[in-house]
Amino acid sequence: MRLMRIAPAVLAIAGSIVLGGSPFAQGVGQDLGPRVKKLAEGVYVHTGKGFDSNSGIILTDEGVIVVDTGQNAIESRAIMETVKKLTTMPVKFVIDTEPHNDHTTGHFVFPGAIVVAAAGAGDSMRAAQAAAPNRIETLAATSPEMKAAVAGYKFVPPHIEYRDKTTITLGGRTLELMYMKGVHSEADTAVWLPQERVVFSASAFVVDQVNILRPFVTIPDILAAGKMMKALNPQHVVPGHGTPSTTKIFDDGEKYYALLTQRVDALMKQGKSLDDIKKDLKMPEYASWGSQDRMPTNVEAAYRALGGRI
Ligand SMILES: [Zn+2]
Repeated sequence: MRLMRIAPAVLAIAGSIVLGGSPFAQGVGQDLGPRVKKLAEGVYVHTGKGFDSNSGIILTDEGVIVVDTGQNAIESRAIMETVKKLTTMPVKFVIDTEPHNDHTTGHFVFPGAIVVAAAGAGDSMRAAQAAAPNRIETLAATSPEMKAAVAGYKFVPPHIEYRDKTTITLGGRTLELMYMKGVHSEADTAVWLPQERVVFSASAFVVDQVNILRPFVTIPDILAAGKMMKALNPQHVVPGHGTPSTTKIFDDGEKYYALLTQRVDALMKQGKSLDDIKKDLKMPEYASWGSQDRMPTNVEAAYRALGGRI
């Protein structure tokens, strides 16, 4: 009976040896935990807790590419641990889908990596740094774990900023970086892997959450970005925040903005002021979405899209 029990284990080992022939299969057999999902051979997403930011881990024959460095330094270190479970190769590139702190604070956890972002990302990071010079000390005081995670912090703005489009080719992988205007931050990037059909769609659309629409963000720009990314025909869509899925993310976003715009339009036609529209507008279909406090910024964007002056 004892011998019979060994048999499945032997089969499992034989199976992993066969899989080991693949160039990006260093991680086979490693327990990556419930928050790491494999999207394609050597392409992983390290999902954030709740609405925390997602990160991509892309293995290549010449090193690793990380897309966004996590919600905070604790997450950045967890991402680095995952990288180490997958490969002994170094992280060569970090790509920022946006410059905000919840994607970029952890750059310092990946020393030696070249940080690539859309033009304007460095200025955005420097402005945030100047506006809150004690941010890291404040963070360190929040918990012993955070204090340990931010130890050795260094401000690392992008080494390379591109305009419009650029391509990174590394160890058999091709990544197309596409700037998206006016969708979330001053410098949003979609990262497209054409061979693997995976797109990291930044925070143009978030899942099950009301997005924050800053004054320079426009609904037509968001919809255009969704259309552009849908036209790529991706198999996997990894949003900046929220559960990765498919182009359904863009379809759901389109429906939401169509309904929002329609309702704001109806209230404008009743002669209501922007303040009254903010009070009167109801979106009960989306009551379960997180961050409802951001709804006024969505109303403002719809009002501007409809020609209203603010
Ligand atoms: Zn952001």
